[in-house]
Amino acid sequence: MHYFDYKGQELHCEEVSLHQIADEVGTPTYIYSKRTLERHFRAFDEPFSGCDHLICYSVKACSNIAILRLFARLGGGFDIVSAGELHRVLAAGGDPHKVVFSGVGKTEEEMRFALDQGILAFNVESEPELFALDRVARKMGRRAPVALRINPDVDAQTHPYISTGLKSNKFGIAIDHARRLLLEAKNLAGVEIMGIDSHIGSQLTKVEPFVHALERLLLFVDWVNQQGYSIRHLDLGGGLGITYKDETPPHPGEYATALLDVLGDRKLRLVFEPGRVIAGNAAILLTRVVYHKPTEAKNFVIVDGAMNDAIRPALYGAYHAVIPVRTSGGATETVDVVGPICETGDFLARDRELEVSAAGDLLAVMSAGAYGFSMSSNYNSRPRAAEVLVDGDRYAVIRQRETRDDLLRGESIPDWI
Ligand SMILES: *Cc1c(COP(=O)(O)O)cnc(C)c1O
Repeated sequence: MHYFDYKGQELHCEEVSLHQIADEVGTPTYIYSKRTLERHFRAFDEPFSGCDHLICYSVKACSNIAILRLFARLGGGFDIVSAGELHRVLAAGGDPHKVVFSGVGKTEEEMRFALDQGILAFNVESEPELFALDRVARKMGRRAPVALRINPDVDAQTHPYISTGLKSNKFGIAIDHARRLLLEAKNLAGVEIMGIDSHIGSQLTKVEPFVHALERLLLFVDWVNQQGYSIRHLDLGGGLGITYKDETPPHPGEYATALLDVLGDRKLRLVFEPGRVIAGNAAILLTRVVYHKPTEAKNFVIVDGAMNDAIRPALYGAYHAVIPVRTSGGATETVDVVGPICETGDFLARDRELEVSAAGDLLAVMSAGAYGFSMSSNYNSRPRAAEVLVDGDRYAVIRQRETRDDLLRGESIPDWI
């Protein structure tokens, strides 16, 4: 469910015409719908209202501080994977006491910063990380709150690049190993192991892998408590999928029902780390046709957005619907929508039936809110796109389009050249 719809022949975001934004802000531009973001956050939050829980929005999905502010206002916490993301959360006015810190490679400097801010939990992903955190915290005279990230070894049945809960992935700690580690870690003064965490993958379209993971985690929590620990926090990660094309992922309400059913009357605080399911369908990438290039083999629609703006098609072969901003209902043709970057992998859509377009026409790349702007880069020395937030009939630029001078920021030429 989102608020990008045609009014007459013109695609709008809420009440604002995308043509108007293109004229005033330029292209390529990411356009977010505030109403959609808030609706999705609530749709995830409300089914858990009967139990102690915290929604820690996954910052890496879409990390603009205006968007983080929206979720902070709704009472959300944040799942971060770097100190840079914590910096964003603080800049957005987020509460550091509602922050969980995931990631396999936290540095000691990042640990100190997060400890100083008093975050809710470090999601510890390995034995050496646990010992490093213990050392850092003791040196600071602190005790770090820890949730051990367990790898439940379930198949998330998603793209291999975004599957994280299998033994062969770099994430988390296998259950057998975690048992040994917990026995060893009892006397560490710098860490308090108070939670168990897992995140099994992204873009999951079935509820079963989540249910299997939870069943395994609950058995494990029982075992951990029998060893004298007091586990009160269970983080089930993110990963719920969205509809890009014809996927039929469970609604957050169904997901919640299935999990709460397995959980029964246990007294655990549930933490979730949703990213894509909240942000994914809440934005489009608005792009303008530069050239229409028919060739013997294919018709190319060359646009001003590219893989540096939206890398998911190039990286995972991901599908994003592409639709015209002004529809004429006219003839269609099969095209590849490609960017100007010097890579064959630089495409946004391939072999699509699209209304015949001409230079200057606007296209909307749908479902671009998650892992869209946040994965963008300056490859080919392309300034990164602007970001716009729409609220009803008004909008604001929440990130200026980068300038050519921004591209040079921090670079210098040594005087011996
Ligand atoms: C990326 C990530 C998430 C968010 O995943 P989505 O599929 O966007 O919900 C949550 N937790 C961790 C640890 C992650 O790495």
